[in-house]
Amino acid sequence: MHIQAELISIGNELLSGQTLNTHGRDLGTALSTIGLHLSRDTTIGDDIPTIGSAIKEALARVDLVFVSGGLGPTIDDITRDALAELLQRKIILDSATVKKIETSFETKGRKMSLAATRQAQVLEGADVLNNSVGHAPGQRIETDEEKTLFVLPGPPNEFNAILNEEILPGLKLRYSDIKPLVIRFIRTQGIGESDIVTILEKAHFQPPEVDLGFYPGNGRVKIRLSSTADHEDRVLAAVAELRTLLADFIFSE
Ligand code: ATP
Ligand code: MG
Repeated sequence: MHIQAELISIGNELLSGQTLNTHGRDLGTALSTIGLHLSRDTTIGDDIPTIGSAIKEALARVDLVFVSGGLGPTIDDITRDALAELLQRKIILDSATVKKIETSFETKGRKMSLAATRQAQVLEGADVLNNSVGHAPGQRIETDEEKTLFVLPGPPNEFNAILNEEILPGLKLRYSDIKPLVIRFIRTQGIGESDIVTILEKAHFQPPEVDLGFYPGNGRVKIRLSSTADHEDRVLAAVAELRTLLADFIFSE
């Protein structure tokens, strides 16, 4: 079984270069630890039609879609409205979240503003996912087409808290028969990428069922070998072959 996920990050500041989008890295790493695959990472601006079409296209392609950003109280936070329009669902107030925000304001000696209430708005029928480090909760929405949509706030600490505390444990259970990938790295130095390829081509190095990646940087090349857990022996055999072929240049494994 090969389960694919897509991420859609929303925010003009991510496109203008003001903010570095870190969600793809964090989600890709988290999903691969439980054997799921992030197959696409899309960044779009704060625009309702664009948000609607991006989510619709992703839901047509994969089983799991993660949407982040635009859940706060400001006028550029329009993700909920885009989702309501796309899924034809109402936006409702989650009373437990209202209480939580109220308490948080009270402990700071402030009164909860009407704007802050917007962070407690969720889509009708969504499962509300607790945000342990901020106000806007996450949401899990099961669509009529049996796809799962996760909606998460933009700040990376909130995105990661909800992902790790509320989402990953559930996905791990749901896909418990999926085994994580087997991944090995070999690092070389003193040889360029094209010379490595020449050696490998000459030796007809094409290990079956093993995905290869070459990542050059700082005068070194990192080689990534990966496969599904049932092909671990093939990954190990490929590593052994590289050890022989690139013997003089390998400095770590
Ligand atoms: P808030 O309630 O804080 O407004 P939000 O869900 O509305 O949360 P945004 O307004 O889109 O989120 O973003 C809030 C902050 O998080 C901004 O500083 C933004 O730059 C940052 N942020 C949003 N998305 C990302 C991302 N993909 N990677 C890194 N930072 C991000
Ligand atoms: Mg916001």
